[in-house]
Amino acid sequence: MKRDSGYSTMAAHQEQEEKLWVAVKMSALVLGSALLIFTALMNSVSWCVQRIWDTSGYFWQTTWLKLYYLFEGREWSLFLFGAALVPSLAFWCFNGILMVADVTGKPTFITRYRIQLGKNDPVDTQKLRQAIYTVLFNQFFVSFPMLVPMFYVMKWWGNTFSKELPTFQWFLVELSIFTLIEEILFYYSHRLVHLPLLYKHIHKKHHEWTAPIGVVSIYAHPLEHILSNTLPVMTGPMLMGSHVVSIAAWFSLALVTTSISHCGYHLPFLPSPEFHDFHHLKYVPASLSPPPCALSLLADKAPF
Ligand SMILES: [Zn+2]
Ligand SMILES: [Zn+2]
Repeated sequence: MKRDSGYSTMAAHQEQEEKLWVAVKMSALVLGSALLIFTALMNSVSWCVQRIWDTSGYFWQTTWLKLYYLFEGREWSLFLFGAALVPSLAFWCFNGILMVADVTGKPTFITRYRIQLGKNDPVDTQKLRQAIYTVLFNQFFVSFPMLVPMFYVMKWWGNTFSKELPTFQWFLVELSIFTLIEEILFYYSHRLVHLPLLYKHIHKKHHEWTAPIGVVSIYAHPLEHILSNTLPVMTGPMLMGSHVVSIAAWFSLALVTTSISHCGYHLPFLPSPEFHDFHHLKYVPASLSPPPCALSLLADKAPF
């Protein structure tokens, strides 16, 4: 009886060992297969990314060369196209959509994200027309003339009209530098125009809109437009001697970003404009406390 029990214990033990062994083999098989599939997947993903990267890089390079030959390499034409036309189109297309929403209250999916409820609902068209005139004046008689000295700086110093585009990685490095320079210069120039005397004669105009809309991002006194809007954005590319394509992308991005921070809507997937909106709503003219900057990286927590 005792021997029988010993045999059955040994058999049970053996059976358990076999089961364990089978389980180990199964786990090894599953893990091995998973590892194999994961490696294969990773390889194909990185291959795909590389492929998309190469294709898009090739696409941009080819497009740039087509444009270069279309303008027969004329640097001034290329500069006007990249530094004036493309950013202006980006600004007016983006703000055109916002203005339709501001004037008509449609599409409702945009207007439901309005920050200051009951304001600009709809926007005063007379006031809007006035703002558009000032913005056009600033673009044609301030920004565009400022492109002339910039053009000569780029010609003398930069690699602006090279047939070869900068790599995407380099463009990202430049973009970070441009943003940092713009943030610092905008922050201090904005702080400066909040000094009582400068506020009264210069910055007050921009603050006429206590509930701002996208297009009033460059509704400002010409001096403020030079100091606070244009120079901070131009300085980065001038220091870096950037390519005209990088300048076009950066100027467009800067104009769309400032329009977002003034648009009056907190739209999904876009940075929150509440901070700057609040600065317009609750500014204190004589206050020396720092106002928020475009991306609010350096801004003091006090919004006015
Ligand atoms: Zn503003
Ligand atoms: Zn201000």
